[in-house]
Amino acid sequence: MMSKATIASPSRELMGSPVFDELGMERDPDNLYLQIIDSVLHAAEILELPHHVQIILAQPKNEIMVHFPVKMDDGHHALFKGYRVQHNNALGPYKGGLRFHHDVHLDDVKALSALMTMKCSLVDVPYGGAKGGIKCDPRSLSRDELMRVTRRFVAAIAQQIGPDYDIPAPDVGTNAQVMAWFADTYMSVTEKQDAIAVVTGKPIEFGGSLGREKATGQGVIDVLQEMLPEVGMEIKGHTCSLIGYGNVGSWAGKLWHERGGKVVAVMDHTGAVANPQGLDAIALDDYVREKGGVAGFEKTPHGATKITEDEFYSTKVDVFIPAALEQMITADKARMINCKIVAEAANAPTTPEGERILMEKGVEILPAILCSAGGVTVSYFEWVQNKTHSYWDLEKVDEELNRHMVKAAHKVQQARKRFGVDLRTAAYIAALDRLGKAYKCRGIFP
Ligand code: NAD
Repeated sequence: MMSKATIASPSRELMGSPVFDELGMERDPDNLYLQIIDSVLHAAEILELPHHVQIILAQPKNEIMVHFPVKMDDGHHALFKGYRVQHNNALGPYKGGLRFHHDVHLDDVKALSALMTMKCSLVDVPYGGAKGGIKCDPRSLSRDELMRVTRRFVAAIAQQIGPDYDIPAPDVGTNAQVMAWFADTYMSVTEKQDAIAVVTGKPIEFGGSLGREKATGQGVIDVLQEMLPEVGMEIKGHTCSLIGYGNVGSWAGKLWHERGGKVVAVMDHTGAVANPQGLDAIALDDYVREKGGVAGFEKTPHGATKITEDEFYSTKVDVFIPAALEQMITADKARMINCKIVAEAANAPTTPEGERILMEKGVEILPAILCSAGGVTVSYFEWVQNKTHSYWDLEKVDEELNRHMVKAAHKVQQARKRFGVDLRTAAYIAALDRLGKAYKCRGIFP
C-alpha cells in the first residue's frame, strides 16, 4: 500500500539550503523558481548529492531574452518579448516547451526549465531541460500575426538553439502549426534543410510523430493506471475532475473516460460544468474545440450543469487533475478540494501552502515531473524518428510511452520506500540520482 502522504515533513524550513546564501539567492516564498529549486535542493540533501552538482542545478546555464518587432494586420508595429532559458544539459540537448501567454515572466520560464531538467532525467530520455515563451495573447492574434510572431522569434534565437543543442516543443498557447512554422523558419534562416528535428510536436505531415498530441494526457493516465492499485483503486468506476480542457486536460479526460472512469466536473478559463453521472468527455472536447471553452456546454443535449468555481473545487472525486496553469491550487482551493489523489498534469500546479494543506488532509500528490512527462517522452520518439528517417506506428509509440512512464513510476515508488519521503521529494531524488551519476562520470571541465 502507498503509505500516507504525511510521511514527509511539509513543515520543514523552506529555502533552508545553504546554497541559497552561497549563491546570493533571495528567499521569496512566492517565487515559483525559488520554490522549485528549494524542493530540488531538499531532495539533493537527502540523496547527499555533491555540493558542486547542487550549485550547478540551482541556477540555469543560460537565460536568453529577446525583443523583436512584428508588423500587425492593421499596419502598425508591435514589440514582443521572448525568452529561452536553458537550465541544464548534462544528460543531452536542452529540451522544453514554448509558451505563448500574456503572463509569461523570466522567473516562471526559469522554473519550468528546471522542472524539465528533472522530468527528462526521471523519465529516462537523453535530454536536459529548457523552456521558452513569448509574452503575447495568442487568442487575440490573427493566424498571420501568430505566424509572423513565431517566425521573428525563431530568427531572434536561431543561433542559440538547434536539433543537437536545444529543441523546443508545444506548451500552453502553442500547437503543431506553430511548431511547423518554427521548424520551417529555423531551416530557412540557418540554411540547414535537414534540421527538422529542431522542434518536436510538429504536424504528422511535417515530421511529427503519431501519438504526440495525446502523449501528455496519456502519460498522466498511464501513471494513474500504474499507481492507483497501491491505494486499492483503479480507473474503472472511479471519478475525476479536471482544471483545463486544452491539449493535456482533454486527452486525460477522454482516456480516463475510455478506460471506464467518469469525468464528473471540468473547469477552464471560461467556466465550469459538471455531471455526477459522468460528462461526455468526447462531446465536451468537440465543443471546446469549436467554442474555445467549456462555458455553454450545459446548453447542449449532453446532460451537464453549469457550476461555480467554488462548487467545482468542492466536488467530491477520487482523482483531481489540474491540467491548466501553474500555482492554481492555493491554500484556499486546497481547503475546498475533496479527493484522494491529486495527479499533477500541469507543471507546478500546487503552491507550497496548498501542498501542505492537501498533505495534512491525507491527499496523495502525484508530482508533475512524473505525471506530465508523457509529452517530452513522445517528443523524444519524434526526434529519434526524424534523425533516423524512419517512422513508428501508433502501437509502438503507445507501448514505448507506457514503458517509460511505468519505469519512472517505479523509480519514484522505490525512492519513496528507500528514503521515507513524500512522492514529490521521491521523484526529485530519482531524477537527481541519474543526474548525479552523469556528473560523476563527466566531471567538471576543465
Ligand atoms: P492548452 O493551452 O492546450 O490548455 C490550457 C488550458 O488551461 C485551457 O483549457 C484553458 O482554458 C485552461 N486555463 C487557462 N487559464 C485558466 C484559468 N485561469 N482557470 C481555469 N483554466 C484555465 O495547454 P496544455 O498544453 O494543455 O498545457 C496545460 C498544462 O500542462 C501547462 O501547465 C503545461 O505547461 C503543461 N504541460 C503541457 C505539455 C504538452 O505537451 N502540451 C507537456 C507537459 C506539461
